[in-house]
This record gives sequence, structure tokens and C-alpha cells, in this order.
Amino acid sequence: MAGIYLHIPFCKTRCVYCDFYSITNEELINSFVDAICIELKNRKTEINEPAKTIYFGGGTPTRLNKQHFEKIFNSLDDHYNVETDAEITIEANPDDLSEKYINDLSSLPFNRISIGIQSFNDNELKFLSRRHSAKQAADAVNNCQKAEFKDISIDLMYGLPGQTMQIWKDNLKQACSLDIQHISAYHLIYEEKTRLYTLLRAGKVSPVNEDLSNEMFQTLIDTLTENHFIHYEISNFAKDGFYSRHNSSYWSGDPYIGVGPAAHSFDGDNRTWNIASLSKYISAVNTGNMVRETEHLSLEQKYNEAILTGLRTMWGVDLNGLKTKFGNNLYQYCVNNAQKFIEENLLKIEDGNLKLTQKGIFISDGIMSELMNV
Ligand code: SF4
Repeated sequence: MAGIYLHIPFCKTRCVYCDFYSITNEELINSFVDAICIELKNRKTEINEPAKTIYFGGGTPTRLNKQHFEKIFNSLDDHYNVETDAEITIEANPDDLSEKYINDLSSLPFNRISIGIQSFNDNELKFLSRRHSAKQAADAVNNCQKAEFKDISIDLMYGLPGQTMQIWKDNLKQACSLDIQHISAYHLIYEEKTRLYTLLRAGKVSPVNEDLSNEMFQTLIDTLTENHFIHYEISNFAKDGFYSRHNSSYWSGDPYIGVGPAAHSFDGDNRTWNIASLSKYISAVNTGNMVRETEHLSLEQKYNEAILTGLRTMWGVDLNGLKTKFGNNLYQYCVNNAQKFIEENLLKIEDGNLKLTQKGIFISDGIMSELMNV
């Protein structure tokens, strides 16, 4: 199944923890929209099956206005065969989601909205340098519901410096009270080249200890599953039927194209990515000199990705599929290395699929690295 990812590289301000490519100067926003439409046109032959998912990510896609989106959707309509029931997601920031803006979005083909809330605690939001308040976050969800968005996801973050279990439980309680369909919850990561990383190096913030991290993860799983969310991927929870189809296709190794600066694409064998500079991207598209960096994936690299992404999901790794795709040697490598984890009740085989157990999910990184062929 093919997907289309559009990277919208604008943010009103930068958050302290973020290492995604985006800029705060919006002067080039109109030129960017024109360029992304040209890139869509130029790459239309790269997808030779109907697109089943379209994902506007960023950056902050909600920095674009209705006219910008109309242009982009016209270009998608002109050049791509998009399935009538395609999942079309927009990532949104709560502070952009006024009632007027949400009504604009609901008049466009979007059928899924993913809101970057991160926390319902004003002190935490301030620490993360998010631009919204807890009230704005809840209002944004309510307004999306009023505008009849039927598939709403929110992002939450845990393991913040100084975050207590009580704050995390309060965040989860608030999230569960919102009658939403999907929650992505990520542990804070100290990415290099972020302001947060500098604060860490300077000793101005301290990571939470491992025991508390694990306790928070367990509380996340318990609270959301008690509230009828299905834990379908390590960091993702959905009500029945509301799994993110776009992300699921990444985890299945399906092909997709990514347009916009810094966007990645995958054709089944090669990963390519656009230049991470808005001005250079626009100039390259306009002069017909768009060059993407390419990495060809070996059989072993593709096997490693299948282990990494498959084990993160509740469906696990289909062992027969693994043998067919990667051959008997890599299949045997996987099965042999999995054995000790199966004996320790960290992995299990169910209906021919290798999966993490509830115990294994807490040390998933270590297990995956032992199954990878490096
Ligand atoms: S977290 Fe989102 S809003 Fe914040 S800087 Fe990164 S892309 Fe922009």
C-alpha cells in the first residue's frame, strides 16, 4: 500500500526538545507551497498504485492556510490516484486550532487530525516551550469534535525532568476524559543539537530515573487499556478500528514518497531524502535540480528493519514471511537468537508470529538488538 508524506517545515517557535527540521521564518511560505506542488507533479510516476494514506507532518502543518491546502489538494488530485477512503491526516498544534481554523480544515479532505498536546500541565508545557496552555489543548479537542472530526489523535510525553507519577496520572486521566480515538505517548528523549540537550550537558536538568520511567510506562499501558484503547505499537494506542494506517504502513515496510524539505521516501529497496534547507529546496525544485540523497538497503538492513518495526507492534514478526523475504539463513538467525528470550518469557510465538510479551516490552531495545544482524 502506498503512502504520501508532506513535510511542512514551519513552526511559530521551536520547542526545547525537538530535532525535526523546521524554521520559524514564514516569509517563504507561498513559494514553499508552489514548490511542493511542483515536486508532487514531478514525482507522480514514483507511485504506481493508488495512494491509501496521505500525511501532512512537520514542522507544523497548521501554519498553512485554507488556500495553501487547496492548492496542495488540487495538485494531489491532478497527479495521483488517491483511494476514495484514503486516510488523510494533518498534524496540528493546539494554539493554531481556533474554531474558524478548524472549520476551514473540516471543509478540506482531512479525515484524521493528530494534535501535539504533549501535556495537560501548564508548568510542563512551559518547560517544553510549547505555545499552548492545558485549557487550549482541551478546547482544541472539543472544537474538533464539534466540527465532526471522527478520528482524533493526541500526542503525550512522559519522563520529563521533575515529572511525578501524580502529574503523569493526571495527564492520562485528562486524555481519557476526551473521548478521542488514538493516543501516541513518547518518553522524552534528549536529542543532540536541541536546547534540551544543552541543558542536560550543563547539568540544569536531570533525566528521570529508570524505575520511574518503567513505572510511568506501566501506568500508561494500564490506564489506556482500562479505557478501551488497544496497545497496538509500543508508543501507540487506539480504539478498535482507529489504528494509524499511515504509520502502520511504515512499520510494514510499504513504499511511500515524502515531499518537502527533509522528507524521506522509501521504494522498497532504497531510502532517499530531500535536502533539509527550505531555501535550497525551493531553488532546487524551481530550477529542476532536485537531488535526493540515497541509501540502498541490503538484505540484512531490510531484515533488521523488519525486526525493529515488526516487534514494536502487537502483530509481531510473521516468521513465514520473514523466511520468504529474507531467506533461510536470516530466518534461522532470528529463531535461534529468539530462543533464550522465549525461555525467559520475554518473547512468544503466537500463530506463527514472534511477539514481545508484556514483560519483554520493557526491554524491547535490548531484545531487538540481539535479533538484528549487524
Ligand atoms: S515539536 Fe512540533 S511544534 Fe515544536 S518545534 Fe518541533 S515540529 Fe515545531
